[in-house]
Amino acid sequence: MLGSLNMDISVTVPELPVPGATVLGSAAVFAPGGKGANQAVAAARLARDAGMRVAMIGCTGDDDFGRALRTALRAEGIDDSRVRTVVGAPTGIAMITVDHAGENMITVAPGANHEVSTADIAATSSAGSSSPDPSRPDAAITALDPASTFRDVLVISAEVPVPVISAALAGSAGRMLRVLNLAPAPSRAEAAELVAAGPDWLVVNESEAAAVLGRRVAGLAEAADAAADLVAAGVLNAVVTAGAAGAAYCGPQAGKGDAAGNQAGNGDRRPADAGQSAAGARPGVVTVPGFTVTAIDTVGAGDTFVGALAVALAAGVPPVDAVTAAAAAGAAAAARPGTQSGMPRPSDVLAATGHHWPVTER
Ligand code: ADP
Repeated sequence: MLGSLNMDISVTVPELPVPGATVLGSAAVFAPGGKGANQAVAAARLARDAGMRVAMIGCTGDDDFGRALRTALRAEGIDDSRVRTVVGAPTGIAMITVDHAGENMITVAPGANHEVSTADIAATSSAGSSSPDPSRPDAAITALDPASTFRDVLVISAEVPVPVISAALAGSAGRMLRVLNLAPAPSRAEAAELVAAGPDWLVVNESEAAAVLGRRVAGLAEAADAAADLVAAGVLNAVVTAGAAGAAYCGPQAGKGDAAGNQAGNGDRRPADAGQSAAGARPGVVTVPGFTVTAIDTVGAGDTFVGALAVALAAGVPPVDAVTAAAAAGAAAAARPGTQSGMPRPSDVLAATGHHWPVTER
């Protein structure tokens, strides 16, 4: 996992302040965050029982927040040996103000996250610890088997400098599966360059897809169109997530892996059309409707989706099934309070969605 580590500082207020105003809120809550660390935690919780290892690459400052973030990673069993402590830059923080209706204002000070350099990713191939097994690239599994070997997957989220992302994509090409999560979306020109670098997987939400493509993307049908356009722009597999509506996938194996089969008599809480190709959708596009859950806190659902997708792909789950598994994990995260604290383990995915992680047996 290459990405950011932040300390999230959250305060709940009766009403969001207008410019110049001061409002009194609740006592501040400090919690580990940052997209990179969030995705690492999501992956670690879903991978741990299988013996799959997750390593984080990123930077913190030489301060108490940085030490707390690394301790939190280690508590999840994540290898933090590639997290560099930067002297002279503060650990990244996100200042989050939430009103009682759930509306929020977030200010991020990236600090040390902007110090991540190409030197930090130089030995990316040794950051992971799983063993690639190219002889069974699409072996479907029904449970993560501790005896299995896993493919190396590099997940990159965009809260680190764009030149570092470019270098990581180039340096790992052909050696590991590269999953790029363009969150937050960089400028259109930068996004175009990263997409053209041809990551194996690109994952974006609706607003990030809109920023990358320069047009509105709202709802599952437009997400499906966007996924097809992202593949046309150069990525091998594209996923556009659409919140509670689910996610759209486009890629060479859209016809394989039958997500619809997952609903057969197993208590899956999914709409009847789950996993069907969208009516009128372009070839190669599959939509995976969201699992029905009572959403409590959707912050972190996207990061959970990305971390879960990476674990499923590392385990050899075929693309559409991997997207379905990621959607189940994202829904389980939405059904649980907290960001990292709400990230599900396999039993939580089952409890919230009826979906056996990573693949419900048919
Ligand atoms: P982000 O948090 O990056 O905006 P999304 O909101 O699109 O990402 O959520 C990622 C995925 O998590 C969705 O594609 C969906 O599968 C799942 N998800 C998110 N919110 C819900 C929800 N309220 N109910 C069910 N699934 C959800």
